[in-house]
Amino acid sequence: MQKYDYLIVGSGLFGAVFAHEANKRGKKCLIIDKRNHPGGNIYCENVEGINVHKYGAHIFHTNDKGIWDYVNQFAEFNRYTNSPVANYHGKMYNLPFNMNTFYQMWGTKTPAEAQAKINEQKAESGIKNPQNLEEQAISLVGKDIYEILIKEYTEKQWGRKATDLPAFIIKRLPVRFTYDNNYFNDKYQGIPIGGYNKIIEGLLDGIEVKLEVDFFEDREYWENIAENLVFTGKIDEYYDYCYGKLQYRSLRFENKILDEENFQGNAVVNYTSSNEPYTRIIEHKHFEFGTQPKTVITYEYPDEWSEGKESYYPINDEVNSELYRKYKELAEKEDNIIFGGRLAEYKYYDMHQVIGSALTKVKKILQ
Ligand code: FAD
Ligand code: UDP
Repeated sequence: MQKYDYLIVGSGLFGAVFAHEANKRGKKCLIIDKRNHPGGNIYCENVEGINVHKYGAHIFHTNDKGIWDYVNQFAEFNRYTNSPVANYHGKMYNLPFNMNTFYQMWGTKTPAEAQAKINEQKAESGIKNPQNLEEQAISLVGKDIYEILIKEYTEKQWGRKATDLPAFIIKRLPVRFTYDNNYFNDKYQGIPIGGYNKIIEGLLDGIEVKLEVDFFEDREYWENIAENLVFTGKIDEYYDYCYGKLQYRSLRFENKILDEENFQGNAVVNYTSSNEPYTRIIEHKHFEFGTQPKTVITYEYPDEWSEGKESYYPINDEVNSELYRKYKELAEKEDNIIFGGRLAEYKYYDMHQVIGSALTKVKKILQ
């Protein structure tokens, strides 16, 4: 007998928002997750009184007032504004690419001077219609910034040549002709006071969740427990890799507790040279303006995905996009199955986009 209206595989943001909304509309939901905690990649662990972003630094940002109000139901947000700095061979540069960066790079003081420098480098490159990440980056910020702040970082992050990566990845970063180090252009930004777990707890309030349960270990049982399935795991795994494996980028996190109050003076420092094997060092207390006597830092090492590792980033190059399209075709033929989130939609989604996508799907199905 089917006991539930919805079985939701994955308690990350997609699964949790879907369950919350379905539950509100009177549907009986069960969530399973293979990890030993809910929340997917936004989960935080408290260490030395500091909320440690266990799966990488998460900064909430959105332009959508509806989504901002939605998350504010569950937690109040602080005024944190992400302003990473980049370390290249010991020299520090502001990010994203703005008048501070241009001054540090070239000594240019006005927008006109900086724009002239970029135009000159762009003209020298001869790029008219950018076809890949390298060409896109040079067109946006010129060759010097590309070489110092983008090329080596990108190639270690993705394990691929910048010429083999899609242009859209670099368009995530603003380029600004003002002295403004805000990494995002969105109207709303912050970190939930008390950590992201508060949001997950609010979303999952009153919902049955079973942890350390992998859907694939007893697929038949789980498929028959509910009338509908919401799947937020990997779409290629769902279809038993029938067309082949999609590629993902994984990460390895190395945490250290330091007996000092302030290690690097900023939450995020990027290491843009290939000399260091890690891409960034995160000092978690700065997300919440912490004043604890100790500090927790995380080195983030990019890693190619293989069996047993977490899949963090879809690799949306041509080969994988074509493969994903085939899986999507299969998914579109299904009745009573919803594929949602970063892994099931194979999309480089931020948190607000995952929430938006889950809310849209719930409304479409349950209105
Ligand atoms: P996930 O959080 O991955 O949740 C999927 C869940 O499904 C997991 O808990 C997993 O254990 C479970 N699962 C998978 N397969 C199975 C199975 N077979 N059986 C049972 N359970 C299963 N976004 C921002 O907006 N701002 C940021 O600053 C930001 N920084 C990021 C930094 C990093 C390093 C990464 C990797 C992502 C970042 N993101 C950021 C993106 C953000 O993490 C995602 O948009 C969001 O968390 C995705 O939610 P999801 O529900 O799609 O997936
Ligand atoms: N990037 C870069 N240098 C940096 C930061 C980012 O070249 O110092 C590029 C890199 O290709 C990265 C992309 O911009 O993958 C997107 O950066 P973002 O910070 O949005 O990445 P995420 O936080 O999702 O890992």
